[in-house]
Amino acid sequence: MKVFPLRTGRTKVPFGQFYGGLDGYSMTDFVTDKEHYIWVPIHSYLIEHPQAGPILVDTGISPEQTAHVDYYRGSIMEHVTDVDEYDLPADETMTAQLARHGYRPSDVSTVIITHLHEDHVGSLGLFPDAAVHLGRAEYDARHSKVFGLVPLGFEPSIAPVRHWRPVDFTGAQIGGFDSSADLLGDGLVTLLPTPGHSPGSTSVLVHAGRYRLLLTGDALYTIHHLAVDQVRAIQTGAESLYVDSVRRMQWLRRLVPDVVVLTAHDHTQYGRRVAAELAEGELSEEALAWCRSYERTTFDELYNLNPARLPHHDAA
Ligand SMILES: [Zn+2]
Repeated sequence: MKVFPLRTGRTKVPFGQFYGGLDGYSMTDFVTDKEHYIWVPIHSYLIEHPQAGPILVDTGISPEQTAHVDYYRGSIMEHVTDVDEYDLPADETMTAQLARHGYRPSDVSTVIITHLHEDHVGSLGLFPDAAVHLGRAEYDARHSKVFGLVPLGFEPSIAPVRHWRPVDFTGAQIGGFDSSADLLGDGLVTLLPTPGHSPGSTSVLVHAGRYRLLLTGDALYTIHHLAVDQVRAIQTGAESLYVDSVRRMQWLRRLVPDVVVLTAHDHTQYGRRVAAELAEGELSEEALAWCRSYERTTFDELYNLNPARLPHHDAA
């Protein structure tokens, strides 16, 4: 089963938001620090399921969102995000990316949303007839406000959805996960609860054949974030849940050796290389061997980072 990364542009994030969770980087810094930022890709994923057809994991950003002031006018979002938050070239819109693989948005009847943040739901409006699956906790919190101020689900982005499908995790235990949800009942697309980054953040384990892909959304920003005792994103939600979710993913990696970890925003050498290797939808044996070798030289057995791979702003 082929899985393609779809890149819908890139987003500008403070370095500390990505990596400063253990260094005292705060939400105040997040709002005020405009100097130490990095640009990271925004990846959604297209799964070509043999029976269900194209399944989309996240929808990336939309051209409307890049017209920042107009899209977010009158909302707190206008102030907590930057005017140049998003960069979306015309050939990287969701419509253009789907067309590259021979699909129109109307061909997609199944969408999985890892969580409701704007860079993951921006193009939901292209899929008003699709069933949109997401963790029950995320769905239930969709009208809630982070810190009592910022909407978890920005109404103009999520309003077009007509067929919400909240997911309950009542299926089999997998790796460090006590339960899961087998989306189609065939074991090919399994949803895993990875809350913390948001109330109901969900990861997707795809059985691609010779290997499995773990699509983490933002439950991990990069593969280096598996080293949760050294590298941590700042949290708008429950930090203890975030850490617990990362440890369960570590455990999954130990118990299920054929898993390849793919995040939404991995700007590191690893993320760039795996996205490039997956351009045709499949990882070659050589690419898989490279992934294994990267992990071996990056983490010790306790998921501590090789010091040479600790993130630095200059090198990011
Ligand atoms: Zn994101």
